Amino acid sequence: MKHVPLRMCVACRKRRPKGELLRVVLTEGGFLLDPTGKLPGRGAYVCPDNPDCWTEKKLRRFAGARAKALSEALMAHLGGKDGQNTHLPAG
Ligand SMILES: [Zn+2]
Repeated sequence: MKHVPLRMCVACRKRRPKGELLRVVLTEGGFLLDPTGKLPGRGAYVCPDNPDCWTEKKLRRFAGARAKALSEALMAHLGGKDGQNTHLPAG
């Protein structure tokens, strides 16, 4: 059986296969979302399919003062508000 690397979501602390999580990289300028998982730097992981994990409150423990910006970036990318469900597959 192939080993699946597990990563922990920083918001809900669930362990999931790396491929199911969205990588976030902390840079000097703030957080960058890294859907390809290839950016250098300190990475963290968030559930892309659970809007609860994109909230400022849940991210604060990990991101501190930057939680709000990270929350907004996740929502913009994953479509958590204004019905922009860009993340969901059509059909
Ligand atoms: Zn999560």
